[in-house]
Amino acid sequence: MSKPISSPAVALIVAGGRGVRAGGGLPKQYRPLGGVPMLRRTVRAFLDHPRIAGVQVVVNPDDRDAYEQAVAGLDLPPSIAGGATRQASVRAGLLGLAEAFAEAVVLIHDAARPLVSAALIDRCLDAGRSVVPALPVADSLRRAGGGVLVEAVERERLLRVQTPQCFDLRNVLAAHQALAGSDHSDDAALMMAAGHKVTTVAGDERNLKVTSAEDFVMAEALLGPSPRVGTGYDVHAFEPGDHVWIGGLRIPHDRALAGHSDADVALHALTDALLGAIAAGDIGDHFPPSDPKWRGADSSLFLEHARDLVLERGGRIEHVDITIVCEAPKIGPHRGAMRERIGALLRLSPDRVSVKATTRERLGFTGRREGIAAQAAATVTLFEGAGR
Ligand code: MG
Repeated sequence: MSKPISSPAVALIVAGGRGVRAGGGLPKQYRPLGGVPMLRRTVRAFLDHPRIAGVQVVVNPDDRDAYEQAVAGLDLPPSIAGGATRQASVRAGLLGLAEAFAEAVVLIHDAARPLVSAALIDRCLDAGRSVVPALPVADSLRRAGGGVLVEAVERERLLRVQTPQCFDLRNVLAAHQALAGSDHSDDAALMMAAGHKVTTVAGDERNLKVTSAEDFVMAEALLGPSPRVGTGYDVHAFEPGDHVWIGGLRIPHDRALAGHSDADVALHALTDALLGAIAAGDIGDHFPPSDPKWRGADSSLFLEHARDLVLERGGRIEHVDITIVCEAPKIGPHRGAMRERIGALLRLSPDRVSVKATTRERLGFTGRREGIAAQAAATVTLFEGAGR
């Protein structure tokens, strides 16, 4: 049994960087990782830990809106504005914590390490008051220049240092004040420069620093993605008219489809497939035909609603596939436009949207041209820890 540190422990999360190396405009800590902004996952790891009394985040003031969105609903004090360097940001955060937590131990942690485990936090807290997690180097190391290996480097004495880094708040703040204006890449380096001894505990390979686009892929793989397939089926009968709505398109025809809404049989089947993938009931639960509000409604509203429910669960829509069953109208000429339209509604590229059509060889109600049927499948990935 570990013996807990008796003084309170607080976490300081450094999210002040504006790194956009992973591509896209938004700084990486605000981008979704497994359906949840990376920073939210990082913050939650500490908020959920029973030995952490408080969490303070330092952000770049330019990112305040993205920050507020990312941590909406979490129990956090107002963020603190960071400085020009990581070191300046940490110092600003420590100053903000100093009054309420003068006697505390502080865990200083990078926002870009969202997979930090409760066990690693415990290891740091149990190990003392000047400790960092570290891992050995497995690869061979060489010094190089101009693309040529110059010399071997002994890896036995090298360690890869991670965060959270655990210090007495008073000591680490004093070191930051004394060395203000220098630019150390982490607090272990700064503490050493200030004359403190820093020890190590075993780090965690899963606690990777998510920097590049490849890191996002790896981190999501570590989150345990859970693929779900939902299916949907729908039928609408013909009635007199001069057009039908199918797959979000108005298609001229010598009949119309009867229904409470626009009777878009393909979008209804697809909406049910998405709802099915997250076990969220069916289209009738969300849009009761008894509600006059949905009379003549554009069925793209139903599909967008199902899409948003998937996104709220932290899910990612991977692919959808629709089969339309009818003798007429001909679907083939409209297939490309349907894939574009559905892709736009679901924010998917058309290569993730499949539309197929078949007849029933004149058999059954579709064969007798009494109506149109459609079935659909949707593949959705859900991730551990999403949806809160
Ligand atoms: Mg329907």
